Amino acid sequence: MSGGTVVTDGVSSAPRTVQPVIELRAINKTYGKTQVLFDIDLTIERGQHVVLFGPSGSGKSTVLRSINLLAEPDSGSLRIDGVEFGPGLPGAAAVKRGGRLELRRRVGMVFQQFNLFPHLCALDNVALPLRKVQRMSKAKAREKAAIALRRVGLIDRAANYPAELSGGQQQRVAIARALALDPEVMLFDEPTSALDPELVGEVLKTMREVAETGMTMVVVTHELGFAKEIGDLNVFMEDGRIVESGPRGFYDNCTSDRAREFLKAVM
Ligand code: ADP
Ligand code: MG
Repeated sequence: MSGGTVVTDGVSSAPRTVQPVIELRAINKTYGKTQVLFDIDLTIERGQHVVLFGPSGSGKSTVLRSINLLAEPDSGSLRIDGVEFGPGLPGAAAVKRGGRLELRRRVGMVFQQFNLFPHLCALDNVALPLRKVQRMSKAKAREKAAIALRRVGLIDRAANYPAELSGGQQQRVAIARALALDPEVMLFDEPTSALDPELVGEVLKTMREVAETGMTMVVVTHELGFAKEIGDLNVFMEDGRIVESGPRGFYDNCTSDRAREFLKAVM
Protein backbone atom coordinates (compact mmCIF):
# COMPACT_ATOMS: atom_id res chain seq x y z
CA MET A 1 0.00 0.00 0.00
CA SER A 2 1.51 3.31 -0.97
CA GLY A 3 1.18 6.63 0.72
CA GLY A 4 -0.07 5.30 4.07
CA THR A 5 1.12 6.78 7.32
CA VAL A 6 2.74 4.30 9.66
CA VAL A 7 1.61 4.67 13.24
CA THR A 8 1.67 2.54 16.34
CA ASP A 9 -1.56 1.92 18.16
CA GLY A 10 0.16 1.84 21.54
CA VAL A 11 -1.03 -1.70 22.25
CA SER A 12 0.63 -4.06 19.83
CA SER A 13 4.25 -3.38 19.05
CA ALA A 14 3.82 -3.84 15.31
CA PRO A 15 3.12 -0.62 13.41
CA ARG A 16 -0.05 -0.65 11.38
CA THR A 17 -0.59 1.37 8.26
CA VAL A 18 -3.46 3.83 8.17
CA GLN A 19 -4.74 4.37 4.69
CA PRO A 20 -5.78 7.94 3.88
CA VAL A 21 -9.46 8.15 3.04
CA ILE A 22 -8.80 10.60 0.20
CA GLU A 23 -5.62 10.99 -1.81
CA LEU A 24 -5.28 13.51 -4.61
CA ARG A 25 -1.98 13.27 -6.47
CA ALA A 26 -0.88 15.77 -9.09
CA ILE A 27 -4.43 16.60 -10.13
CA ASN A 28 -4.65 18.90 -13.14
CA LYS A 29 -7.85 20.27 -14.59
CA THR A 30 -8.43 22.42 -17.64
CA TYR A 31 -11.64 24.03 -18.85
CA GLY A 32 -11.27 24.84 -22.54
CA LYS A 33 -7.87 26.50 -22.77
CA THR A 34 -7.78 27.59 -19.16
CA GLN A 35 -5.97 25.44 -16.65
CA VAL A 36 -7.75 25.84 -13.32
CA LEU A 37 -5.94 23.25 -11.17
CA PHE A 38 -2.19 22.70 -11.14
CA ASP A 39 -0.68 19.59 -9.58
CA ILE A 40 -2.98 19.47 -6.57
CA ASP A 41 -1.72 17.09 -3.88
CA LEU A 42 -3.92 16.50 -0.88
CA THR A 43 -3.97 13.65 1.62
CA ILE A 44 -6.91 13.42 3.98
CA GLU A 45 -6.97 10.98 6.87
CA ARG A 46 -10.10 9.39 8.21
CA GLY A 47 -11.93 11.68 10.60
CA GLN A 48 -9.90 14.70 9.56
CA HIS A 49 -11.64 18.05 9.09
CA VAL A 50 -10.09 19.98 6.22
CA VAL A 51 -10.79 23.63 5.47
CA LEU A 52 -10.12 24.96 1.96
CA PHE A 53 -9.96 28.72 1.63
CA GLY A 54 -8.77 31.30 -0.85
CA PRO A 55 -9.99 33.93 -3.28
CA SER A 56 -12.92 33.45 -5.60
CA GLY A 57 -11.82 31.58 -8.72
CA SER A 58 -8.82 29.96 -7.01
CA GLY A 59 -10.15 26.45 -7.68
CA LYS A 60 -11.68 25.45 -4.35
CA SER A 61 -14.94 24.20 -5.81
CA THR A 62 -13.08 22.39 -8.57
CA VAL A 63 -11.01 20.55 -5.97
CA LEU A 64 -14.18 19.48 -4.15
CA ARG A 65 -15.82 18.51 -7.43
CA SER A 66 -12.75 16.47 -8.35
CA ILE A 67 -13.14 14.45 -5.16
CA ASN A 68 -16.53 13.16 -6.27
CA LEU A 69 -15.81 13.36 -10.00
CA LEU A 70 -18.38 16.04 -10.72
CA ALA A 71 -15.31 17.55 -12.37
CA GLU A 72 -13.15 14.89 -13.93
CA PRO A 73 -9.43 15.63 -13.62
CA ASP A 74 -7.40 15.64 -16.85
CA SER A 75 -4.50 13.93 -15.16
CA GLY A 76 -3.35 12.79 -11.79
CA SER A 77 -4.75 10.24 -9.43
CA LEU A 78 -7.70 10.20 -7.06
CA ARG A 79 -8.00 7.46 -4.47
CA ILE A 80 -10.86 6.96 -2.09
CA ASP A 81 -10.10 4.31 0.53
CA GLY A 82 -7.20 3.20 -1.63
CA VAL A 83 -9.41 2.61 -4.66
CA GLU A 84 -8.21 4.48 -7.69
CA PHE A 85 -10.91 6.60 -9.35
CA GLY A 86 -8.63 8.82 -11.42
CA PRO A 87 -8.32 9.11 -15.17
CA GLY A 88 -5.69 6.38 -15.17
CA LEU A 89 -6.60 2.69 -15.15
CA PRO A 90 -7.96 0.81 -13.36
CA GLY A 91 -10.01 3.66 -11.91
CA ALA A 92 -11.40 4.83 -15.22
CA ALA A 93 -12.70 1.36 -15.89
CA ALA A 94 -14.23 1.20 -12.43
CA VAL A 95 -15.94 4.52 -13.03
CA LYS A 96 -17.43 3.27 -16.29
CA ARG A 97 -18.74 0.15 -14.59
CA GLY A 98 -20.85 2.24 -12.24
CA GLY A 99 -18.04 3.13 -9.89
CA ARG A 100 -19.08 6.74 -10.18
CA LEU A 101 -22.34 5.95 -8.41
CA GLU A 102 -20.45 4.06 -5.74
CA LEU A 103 -18.07 7.01 -5.33
CA ARG A 104 -20.98 9.43 -4.98
CA ARG A 105 -22.49 7.19 -2.33
CA ARG A 106 -19.24 7.32 -0.38
CA VAL A 107 -18.78 11.05 -0.81
CA GLY A 108 -21.69 13.30 0.20
CA MET A 109 -21.79 16.88 -0.98
CA VAL A 110 -23.54 20.00 0.28
CA PHE A 111 -23.60 23.06 -1.97
CA GLN A 112 -24.12 26.76 -1.46
CA GLN A 113 -27.51 26.40 -3.13
CA PHE A 114 -29.53 23.75 -1.35
CA ASN A 115 -30.99 22.25 -4.53
CA LEU A 116 -34.02 20.74 -2.82
CA PHE A 117 -36.94 19.62 -4.95
CA PRO A 118 -39.69 22.20 -4.38
CA HIS A 119 -42.50 19.71 -4.98
CA LEU A 120 -41.25 17.23 -2.35
CA CYS A 121 -41.55 17.60 1.41
CA ALA A 122 -38.39 17.57 3.54
CA LEU A 123 -38.75 13.86 4.27
CA ASP A 124 -39.09 12.90 0.61
CA ASN A 125 -36.21 15.17 -0.40
CA VAL A 126 -34.02 13.13 1.94
CA ALA A 127 -35.61 9.82 0.95
CA LEU A 128 -35.29 10.29 -2.82
CA PRO A 129 -31.55 9.55 -3.17
CA LEU A 130 -31.95 6.53 -0.93
CA ARG A 131 -34.45 5.16 -3.41
CA LYS A 132 -32.44 6.17 -6.49
CA VAL A 133 -28.91 5.41 -5.31
CA GLN A 134 -29.52 2.65 -2.79
CA ARG A 135 -32.67 1.30 -4.43
CA MET A 136 -34.54 1.15 -1.15
CA SER A 137 -38.28 0.68 -0.94
CA LYS A 138 -40.27 3.84 -0.30
CA ALA A 139 -41.08 2.79 3.26
CA LYS A 140 -37.49 1.91 4.13
CA ALA A 141 -36.16 5.09 2.52
CA ARG A 142 -38.60 7.20 4.52
CA GLU A 143 -37.62 5.42 7.71
CA LYS A 144 -33.96 6.17 7.07
CA ALA A 145 -34.73 9.73 5.98
CA ALA A 146 -36.51 10.31 9.28
CA ILE A 147 -33.40 9.24 11.18
CA ALA A 148 -31.31 11.69 9.15
CA LEU A 149 -33.79 14.53 9.72
CA ARG A 150 -33.69 13.80 13.43
CA ARG A 151 -29.90 14.09 13.33
CA VAL A 152 -30.14 17.64 11.99
CA GLY A 153 -32.93 18.55 14.40
CA LEU A 154 -35.68 18.81 11.80
CA ILE A 155 -37.88 15.79 12.34
CA ASP A 156 -40.76 18.11 13.27
CA ARG A 157 -40.53 19.71 9.81
CA ALA A 158 -40.52 16.44 7.88
CA ALA A 159 -43.83 17.15 6.15
CA ASN A 160 -42.96 20.72 5.20
CA TYR A 161 -42.07 21.74 1.65
CA PRO A 162 -38.88 23.74 1.02
CA ALA A 163 -40.84 26.98 0.53
CA GLU A 164 -42.18 26.54 4.06
CA LEU A 165 -38.68 26.29 5.55
CA SER A 166 -36.09 28.98 6.25
CA GLY A 167 -32.85 28.96 4.26
CA GLY A 168 -31.03 27.55 7.27
CA GLN A 169 -33.55 24.77 7.63
CA GLN A 170 -33.37 24.00 3.91
CA GLN A 171 -29.62 23.70 4.14
CA ARG A 172 -29.97 21.37 7.12
CA VAL A 173 -32.34 19.23 5.04
CA ALA A 174 -29.65 19.16 2.34
CA ILE A 175 -27.13 18.03 4.96
CA ALA A 176 -29.56 15.31 6.11
CA ARG A 177 -30.00 14.21 2.49
CA ALA A 178 -26.25 13.70 2.17
CA LEU A 179 -25.90 12.05 5.60
CA ALA A 180 -28.72 9.59 4.89
CA LEU A 181 -26.53 7.82 2.35
CA ASP A 182 -24.00 6.99 5.09
CA PRO A 183 -21.11 8.67 3.30
CA GLU A 184 -17.54 8.17 4.40
CA VAL A 185 -16.71 11.75 3.52
CA MET A 186 -18.76 14.95 3.47
CA LEU A 187 -17.85 17.86 1.21
CA PHE A 188 -19.28 21.30 1.96
CA ASP A 189 -18.94 24.07 -0.65
CA GLU A 190 -19.62 27.43 1.03
CA PRO A 191 -22.70 25.99 2.73
CA THR A 192 -23.58 29.23 4.52
CA SER A 193 -22.75 31.76 1.80
CA ALA A 194 -26.31 32.00 0.48
CA LEU A 195 -27.83 32.46 3.92
CA ASP A 196 -28.95 35.56 5.75
CA PRO A 197 -26.48 36.20 8.57
CA GLU A 198 -28.90 35.21 11.33
CA LEU A 199 -29.31 31.74 9.76
CA VAL A 200 -25.60 30.93 9.46
CA GLY A 201 -25.26 29.80 13.07
CA GLU A 202 -27.75 26.94 12.91
CA VAL A 203 -26.05 25.45 9.85
CA LEU A 204 -22.60 25.73 11.43
CA LYS A 205 -24.01 24.09 14.55
CA THR A 206 -25.29 21.18 12.45
CA MET A 207 -21.91 20.88 10.73
CA ARG A 208 -20.17 20.94 14.10
CA GLU A 209 -22.39 18.08 15.26
CA VAL A 210 -21.56 16.10 12.12
CA ALA A 211 -17.86 16.77 12.75
CA GLU A 212 -18.19 15.50 16.31
CA THR A 213 -19.35 12.12 15.03
CA GLY A 214 -15.89 11.69 13.51
CA MET A 215 -17.03 12.22 9.92
CA THR A 216 -14.25 13.07 7.49
CA MET A 217 -15.07 16.54 6.15
CA VAL A 218 -13.73 18.93 3.55
CA VAL A 219 -15.20 22.39 3.94
CA VAL A 220 -14.87 25.49 1.77
CA THR A 221 -15.81 28.43 3.97
CA HIS A 222 -15.15 32.08 4.63
CA GLU A 223 -16.32 31.74 8.23
CA LEU A 224 -12.99 32.27 9.95
CA GLY A 225 -14.19 31.45 13.46
CA PHE A 226 -15.63 28.17 12.30
CA ALA A 227 -12.53 27.39 10.22
CA LYS A 228 -10.28 27.97 13.22
CA GLU A 229 -12.47 25.79 15.36
CA ILE A 230 -12.89 22.86 12.99
CA GLY A 231 -9.80 22.82 10.76
CA ASP A 232 -7.36 20.01 11.52
CA LEU A 233 -5.82 20.73 8.14
CA ASN A 234 -6.16 24.15 6.53
CA VAL A 235 -5.37 24.69 2.88
CA PHE A 236 -4.93 28.07 1.20
CA MET A 237 -5.41 28.10 -2.58
CA GLU A 238 -4.71 30.74 -5.16
CA ASP A 239 -4.73 30.60 -8.96
CA GLY A 240 -5.37 26.86 -9.04
CA ARG A 241 -2.50 25.99 -6.71
CA ILE A 242 -2.15 25.09 -3.08
CA VAL A 243 0.00 27.94 -1.78
CA GLU A 244 0.25 26.88 1.83
CA SER A 245 -1.35 24.46 4.23
CA GLY A 246 -1.05 23.75 7.91
CA PRO A 247 -2.53 22.21 11.04
CA ARG A 248 -4.62 23.73 13.82
CA GLY A 249 -3.43 27.25 14.62
CA PHE A 250 -2.68 27.86 10.96
CA TYR A 251 -4.70 31.07 10.68
CA ASP A 252 -2.49 32.82 13.20
CA ASN A 253 0.74 31.32 11.89
CA CYS A 254 0.60 31.19 8.11
CA THR A 255 3.79 32.34 6.46
CA SER A 256 2.92 33.25 2.87
CA ASP A 257 2.17 36.91 2.27
CA ARG A 258 -0.75 35.95 0.05
CA ALA A 259 -2.50 33.88 2.70
CA ARG A 260 -1.98 36.57 5.31
CA GLU A 261 -3.28 39.29 3.00
CA PHE A 262 -6.28 37.20 2.09
CA LEU A 263 -7.11 36.47 5.72
CA LYS A 264 -6.80 40.11 6.64
CA ALA A 265 -9.00 41.26 3.77
CA VAL A 266 -11.71 38.64 3.62
CA MET A 267 -12.16 36.33 6.53
P1 ADP B 1 -13.54 28.85 -6.43
O1 ADP B 1 -14.47 27.80 -5.94
O2 ADP B 1 -12.28 28.93 -5.66
O3 ADP B 1 -14.21 30.18 -6.54
P2 ADP B 1 -13.72 27.43 -8.93
O4 ADP B 1 -13.15 26.09 -8.68
O5 ADP B 1 -15.20 27.56 -8.97
O6 ADP B 1 -13.09 28.45 -7.90
O7 ADP B 1 -13.19 27.98 -10.31
C1 ADP B 1 -11.82 27.96 -10.67
C2 ADP B 1 -11.71 28.48 -12.09
O8 ADP B 1 -12.32 27.56 -12.98
C3 ADP B 1 -12.41 29.81 -12.31
O9 ADP B 1 -11.61 30.59 -13.17
C4 ADP B 1 -13.71 29.43 -12.98
O10 ADP B 1 -14.16 30.44 -13.81
C5 ADP B 1 -13.31 28.20 -13.77
N1 ADP B 1 -14.42 27.23 -13.91
C6 ADP B 1 -15.03 26.57 -12.90
N2 ADP B 1 -15.98 25.72 -13.38
C7 ADP B 1 -15.98 25.87 -14.73
C8 ADP B 1 -16.72 25.28 -15.79
N3 ADP B 1 -17.66 24.35 -15.56
N4 ADP B 1 -16.43 25.69 -17.05
C9 ADP B 1 -15.47 26.60 -17.28
N5 ADP B 1 -14.73 27.19 -16.33
C10 ADP B 1 -14.97 26.85 -15.06
MG1 MG C 1 -16.43 27.94 -5.29
